Amino acid sequence: MVDQRMRTRLQVTGTVQGVGFRPFVYGLATRFRLSGFVLNDATGVLIEVEGASSDIASFRVALVDEPPQLATVESVDEKQIEPEGPGVFEIRASADGGPVRTAVAPDMAPCDDCIAEIFDPDQRRFRYPFTNCTNCGPRFTITMGIPYDRPNTTMGTFEMCAECRAEYENPADRRFHAQPIACPRCGPRLSLLHGGVSIDGDPFVGAARLLAEGSVLAIKGLGGYHLACDATNHVAVAELRRRKHREEKPLAVMVADLSAATDLVVISEDEQDALESQRRPIVLARRRTDGVVAESVAPGNAYLGIMLPYTPLHYLLMAEVRGPIVLTSGNLTDEPIAYVDSDARDRLSGLVDAWLTHDRPIHVRCDDSVVRSARGSTWPVRRARGYAPGSLRVTPPFLRPTLGAGPELKHTFCLGSEDHAILSHHIGDLETFEAMSAFTQGVEHFTRIFDITPEVVGYDLHPDYMSTKWALAQQGAELVGVQHHHAHIVSCMIDNLRTEPVIGLALDGTGYGEDGAIWGCEVLTCRLAGYERVAHLRYVPMPGAAMAIREPWRMAAVYLNEALGQEAESLPIDFVARTRERWGPILQMASSGLNAPSTSSAGRMFDAVAALCGLRTRVSYEGQAAAELEQVADWSELDVYPCTVANGVIDGVELVGAVARDLSLGSTVPEVAARFHNGLAEALVRACMETRNQRELETVALSGGAFQNVLLLQRVTSGLESEGFEVLVHRSVPPNDGGISLGQAVVANARGIGES
Ligand code: ZN
Ligand code: ZN
Ligand code: FE
Repeated sequence: MVDQRMRTRLQVTGTVQGVGFRPFVYGLATRFRLSGFVLNDATGVLIEVEGASSDIASFRVALVDEPPQLATVESVDEKQIEPEGPGVFEIRASADGGPVRTAVAPDMAPCDDCIAEIFDPDQRRFRYPFTNCTNCGPRFTITMGIPYDRPNTTMGTFEMCAECRAEYENPADRRFHAQPIACPRCGPRLSLLHGGVSIDGDPFVGAARLLAEGSVLAIKGLGGYHLACDATNHVAVAELRRRKHREEKPLAVMVADLSAATDLVVISEDEQDALESQRRPIVLARRRTDGVVAESVAPGNAYLGIMLPYTPLHYLLMAEVRGPIVLTSGNLTDEPIAYVDSDARDRLSGLVDAWLTHDRPIHVRCDDSVVRSARGSTWPVRRARGYAPGSLRVTPPFLRPTLGAGPELKHTFCLGSEDHAILSHHIGDLETFEAMSAFTQGVEHFTRIFDITPEVVGYDLHPDYMSTKWALAQQGAELVGVQHHHAHIVSCMIDNLRTEPVIGLALDGTGYGEDGAIWGCEVLTCRLAGYERVAHLRYVPMPGAAMAIREPWRMAAVYLNEALGQEAESLPIDFVARTRERWGPILQMASSGLNAPSTSSAGRMFDAVAALCGLRTRVSYEGQAAAELEQVADWSELDVYPCTVANGVIDGVELVGAVARDLSLGSTVPEVAARFHNGLAEALVRACMETRNQRELETVALSGGAFQNVLLLQRVTSGLESEGFEVLVHRSVPPNDGGISLGQAVVANARGIGES
């Protein structure tokens, strides 16, 4: 039987623009002898194909099965239309259909073809660090406006040479319409600078030599400048830390390839997938004790943040450097990463010995992403390069364009429109002027490139958050205050595409509560539009407020005093002997309530236990004490400290009291740390069971920064699962405050819909 001639119109949505989708469709149409056309339109890509029905069917299958590396097909709408007769297949100019939500894709590591080219002496892009194609390369960080065309990118000032132009215009070429296309003749140039003067010779060879000699280099990457040094050289690492004013916070390391990574860390299958993915995040993996990296790279830390090269520049550099290098953001501690050349010169000149830099401007600052993996899930700890501004699917759809203004620390913002939410890249802590302007400029940039003008703004209830103050000053938008932990749990629901009510366990350091206390260990029942607080950690005072966060010994003194009263002072443990002298004013502050807000924070309880265990009395970065407590714990220890849950209160004082007594009886810190985790996890599971009895909810969502603690996550998850609960954990959205803005946007929208 002869195939019938047909014509089909296909409307494709997803990430299908700026990712080589049209040349891919062109190739398929040619392969299956079809005529018709393909073009970009407002919702994605529109295709009409005409030919034998069996060929169209094969085309249809290949369209979904073999898309280009960077494309994701979300839906294909299909309609039969009247055949127009034989003809050619062509790529047509874009329909001017208004804004396109998939306008800008995330930056992606070089594809295999581009990597092969830069190491092949016969190719014209041999050793060219700005090689890219439609399957890879910079996108988000070079985009200045829409549509995503070369003049609207920072490549606009580089005029294509004839050879590049020919590739750019050839539908069969992998660089067809690759906006950042470049070659050694016409594209950006790399230079190695010392004291403002260019150093002769191959910049990669020169940079590798400087690193081997112990120098600190500034390296201009995709989303900003990094500081780099030899990661095996303790002196160089110490010098970098001294110049950057970074005491102990771990530094990330880049290695040449997977085998070099396995020399430094133990890598699970999930971690390997993340490491090698084209997003190329930093992966936090368990450090090998016999690795060659200097201890000072991540002092006292059982984990190491590791990444593979993610631009041709990094590939070519790592091919010359023999070992791992530290690659950390180019800034002074707590400042955002430098990305504008003149600003980088001002801020980094005193920090570095030489510069490996180039003349392609960076338009949007974007940090490296960080992911962690456990129990078969991988989740972002910091969601930035390679992920942003990828969109997330949201149900129910946004009724009106909505903005989540985000938290204070680990700030992101989120734009919601129709069934998509666009979570911004990691902006940082809004305490600095630069971070605050990155936030406001970011909102302006995103609303323009995605053409979403927010009519509703969700914001955190904390009156002192810079993002809250900013939101409250927005004219003309409807403002919706969203409780911090409600936002956490809703972000986890959306991350799992769930909308029905759940039990939420939200554990973190700080979140403003509706009663004015600082919440942080909360059992909630959550709907998208609202929540009920069913249990929380027993309130204790936080003497000195912010000082209590920097000095965990204060929380330990408070917890000891609450648990043991007078007896605390004679408890035979090191902590008491070392700090007793200083308790007086602290406990007085606590009992007076002056500058001592009440808190149910899980973070502060972890701090207290870490201090009691002698791990540390002061911290130099957020979450440090809690992270060390997790790492020191003996996973094989299954004993549990008591922690009563009654009348909606989880008795953390009882739990910490048990820690103190057990320490005084001579139990080891690894045992005590594990029993503390186990006791808290068991109490949380009991709180969920009680809630299930009353509300008939079978699903528990886990969110908040404390669930980055893999031991706690493991104990809570297995406890809940063995009681028959379904457990939701994060996948694409950070469990920490980096995910808050998504929750804010969704809650604000749900209130608008009047969902009950
Ligand atoms: Zn490529
Ligand atoms: Zn060229
Ligand atoms: Fe939080």
